[in-house]
Amino acid sequence: METIIIILLFTLGAIIGSFLNVLIYRLPIKESILFPSSHCPNCHHPLRVWDNIPIISYLMVRGHCFHCQSSIPIRYFLVEIISALSWIVLYYKFGLSIDFVLQLVLISILIVCTYTDLDHRRILNSVVLFGYGIGFAIIIILNPSSIMDSILGMTSGLAFMLFWAVIGKLLFRQTALGAGDIKLAAMIGIFTGAKFSLFILILSFTLAALYVIIPALKNGKILGRQLPLAPFIAVSTLITLLFGNELIQSYLDLVF
Ligand SMILES: [Zn+2]
Repeated sequence: METIIIILLFTLGAIIGSFLNVLIYRLPIKESILFPSSHCPNCHHPLRVWDNIPIISYLMVRGHCFHCQSSIPIRYFLVEIISALSWIVLYYKFGLSIDFVLQLVLISILIVCTYTDLDHRRILNSVVLFGYGIGFAIIIILNPSSIMDSILGMTSGLAFMLFWAVIGKLLFRQTALGAGDIKLAAMIGIFTGAKFSLFILILSFTLAALYVIIPALKNGKILGRQLPLAPFIAVSTLITLLFGNELIQSYLDLVF
């Protein structure tokens, strides 16, 4: 039974991943997400029905368009795999529960934000606003007793980011945190509640700082360009969802 559930979740995760690919590619360039149907990013030839099977199609055509033979970026394959694996690890963590549904939605939104931030340095308003709407909707309908915790998670995330945005502005005399980062950070608090909301952001800043500092120690040069923050926020959120309680406990043991 367990094996069937895992196969089913992996398949659903891959199908959703394939849809996330469509969002990542089309939303920033304002293309409709429904029409036209999936096509090759190079020659725009429509895909055949059997080219639309997540993960398997990519492996069968070995990453090439059947029509123009141009290579299809491995990104499409990666997003499908990441989505499918997220479904499985979240299932092992939360079982088939409200939290499972809630965190799946959160991780899917974060996958989209990660890649639009990497590709275009943008976290799209439409995606984040959708997150606010669906986050509150799920909680009000399925778990209304945790609504205060969600509001607290949202406001503490917002306060934390605004604080550092002001500090960053004073220190560097330029905008250190984008409005998209701030809105995204507050949105995550709705899904995770107050306990994890601040921890995720502190972990994101720590990982981003390490990403800048470690190469700087090696080369003596600091990366000048602005860093997309969404990938660090996404990774930190997944780590916290899976190991947050243990991490917070060992941090407290260390300090007190
Ligand atoms: Zn093509």
